[in-house]
Amino acid sequence: SVVTRFAPSPTGFLHIGGARTALFNWLFARHHGGQFLLRIEDTDRARSTQQAVDAIFDGIKWLGLDWDGEAVFQFARMDRHAEVARQLVAEGKAYYCYCTPEELEKIREQQRAEGKPMRYPGIWRDRDPSEAPAGAKAVVRLKAPQDGDTVIHDLVQGEVRVVNSQLDDMVLLRADGTPTYMLSVVVDDHDMGITHVIRGDDHLTNAFRQYQLYKACGWDIPQFAHIPLIHGPDGAKLSKRHGALGAEAYRDMGFLPEAMRNYLLRLGWGHGDDEIIPTEQAVEWFDLAGVGRSPSRFDMTKLTNLNGHYLRQSDDSRLVDLIAPMVEAKVGAPVDAEGRRRLTAGMAGMKERAKTLVELADSALFYVRPRPLALDDKAAKALDDSDARALLRDYVQSVAESEWTKHVLEEAARTFAESRGQKLGKVAQPLRAALTGSSVSPPIFEVMEVLGRAEATARIEDITG
Ligand code: GLU
Repeated sequence: SVVTRFAPSPTGFLHIGGARTALFNWLFARHHGGQFLLRIEDTDRARSTQQAVDAIFDGIKWLGLDWDGEAVFQFARMDRHAEVARQLVAEGKAYYCYCTPEELEKIREQQRAEGKPMRYPGIWRDRDPSEAPAGAKAVVRLKAPQDGDTVIHDLVQGEVRVVNSQLDDMVLLRADGTPTYMLSVVVDDHDMGITHVIRGDDHLTNAFRQYQLYKACGWDIPQFAHIPLIHGPDGAKLSKRHGALGAEAYRDMGFLPEAMRNYLLRLGWGHGDDEIIPTEQAVEWFDLAGVGRSPSRFDMTKLTNLNGHYLRQSDDSRLVDLIAPMVEAKVGAPVDAEGRRRLTAGMAGMKERAKTLVELADSALFYVRPRPLALDDKAAKALDDSDARALLRDYVQSVAESEWTKHVLEEAARTFAESRGQKLGKVAQPLRAALTGSSVSPPIFEVMEVLGRAEATARIEDITG
């Protein structure tokens, strides 16, 4: 059965490329009813931080990509990695190399001078370790094949090959006994039972060396799938300006996790012309054959539009939960029960117009702001007219006994405007200004209904005196 993994290095946030890699691994595992594992590659002690580990966990959880079992921490498995290297030495598949850094530098210099690629020439490959100078420190190197090719049938890239003579004997254990990244990855993937390694194609060249290491260990080799990287809208490497941000940044910008999943899925994977692919459908359809071979371009507008779609589909009470903290922060006061009632009742009208949760929260502020409302310039202007204020006052008086529903209120406004020989807008405009403090809002009679008779009347009286 299928076992995939996401193996981030905790040296920064969960960026958009990492999030997509995690998603593809998750989808592939769920599609096949397999397992999706998480491994934190924290062997670079200088650059790994707890903060980054937390950001990765938070990011994956926010995206809703549940992983199976406990996360594996690579650094904690160092002894196991070293043990595998020593076992390879014992079997004659790896060897101790006693070259000093100075010696290696000399070799490199010569290769540089001769215009040759820099490669370790296998000095200790067949030499007897007893020839090593007393007390000399050794690294462990893999006895890599020198003839033939290494061929990988990558599930995305197709057949890729390298001539073995181009790869030198890579270091498995450093002189201080610590394992190299290449060794740790292979041992962990093997021990975790990984069947499919799905990752960015910046790791494709590593795959050849990893393949050789699997062979030396006599282990089954997982299937590889190297996904083209994400580029910016201009085709250049993705930069911060273009959206190379952490998952938490997208959350803070007001994107929904399901919109993010849909967008990331489409960023490099396709199913005909389908753009809107909810997660359940994605699990059903996902395959590696649908992964494109060229880099995809990050497009903030597409993401934003998709988000608007998922906002409109979303349950109103969930949206209230999501925007309440934002509203509280902006209004500077907690949203009480009456505030929640208004946000919930007004949500249907608001969510039609917003593309992000931030926009949604902004559009909702007027519902919970305490009286008297501050007016923006346009609203102030609409009310800076004694005729408009008089019209407003008379209209409110005309509905004092009416049923307080949007249809009745709107009908009353029409009849009232007509009786004064005015257009509906002459009433609606100052009404909107008084009730929302702004010149744009959800349909104003809906707002009036949601606010309720007492609050709406009080807001209007704040203006008309
Ligand atoms: N830790 C590596 C990274 O963050 C991934 C290694 C792998 O997927 O094999 O890029």
